[in-house]
Amino acid sequence: MPRNSRFFSRRSLPLLAASVLALSLAGCATSGENDAGADDERPVVLTTFTVLADIAENVAGDNLRVESITKVGAEIHGYEPTPGDIRRASEADLILDNGMNLEAWFGQFVEGMDVPHVVVSEGVEAIDITEDAYAGMPNPHAWMSPVNVQIYVDNMVDAFSDLDPDNASEYEANGEAYKAELQTVQDELVDELSVLPDNQRALVTCEGAFSYLARDAGLTEKYIWAVNAEQQATPQQITSAIEFVRDNDVPAVFCESTVSDAPMQQVVEATDAEFGGVLYVDSLSEADGPVPTYLELIRHDATTIIDALTARN
Ligand SMILES: [Zn+2]
Repeated sequence: MPRNSRFFSRRSLPLLAASVLALSLAGCATSGENDAGADDERPVVLTTFTVLADIAENVAGDNLRVESITKVGAEIHGYEPTPGDIRRASEADLILDNGMNLEAWFGQFVEGMDVPHVVVSEGVEAIDITEDAYAGMPNPHAWMSPVNVQIYVDNMVDAFSDLDPDNASEYEANGEAYKAELQTVQDELVDELSVLPDNQRALVTCEGAFSYLARDAGLTEKYIWAVNAEQQATPQQITSAIEFVRDNDVPAVFCESTVSDAPMQQVVEATDAEFGGVLYVDSLSEADGPVPTYLELIRHDATTIIDALTARN
């Protein structure tokens, strides 16, 4: 319950604390980390991470209670579910996962659970990983293309209509409206990044999470490691990134919000590249942060990339 524990640790909240603490702990015991659920009769849809929860909320409207299993900032590939997660999931009405081997923990998590789950990336054309131990496997970060997310939305519309047929027409309408927004963001992304000159179209990041965005925007992708894993950034991987940055005179490099940027700072030290900023992929930010929604995530990343790659000009 990170939201509550952060709240408790705030020094500026004095006497109120004891009674709130008691109430909140009671809430935690009965309804997981979300205290709002006590009188909420709506079907519960759980997603494996925050980005999917936001997309799902756009399709669900107010008809379903959508929550993410993992919290903002979590490492979602190798996440270790808690007993509380398992209890919440076993009481849910539907679970949505990304699939494409994103959630290494998911198969075991839902094993023996009597809750339907739907793979929202079903039907997306995968880009295969070409390096490391994952070579030949699909790159799971398909949501980094808003065009792919239109397929996610179609899958959610079908799943929610099966779950709650009375509101099927509303899910359909919500899905169509959101798909139009996705197309707008996609067009903006491609349009904005098209101004980069030919010799500055390299996107260097920590994780290889940008294959789909790089394809859409016509960028060359280079990363330190292919997929977040326990062992990150070998000396050989860092050397390879340094050589790439030097060979291509890359002006700026980036790292994702859910991993340490220390390996990329080594690349910055060893080259003329600047650290271009934090990109969001595997998690949204908190509500008051820079990317509380998926659409803002894509816009934020496009702007961060373009600002950093053109800063020298
Ligand atoms: Zn990732």
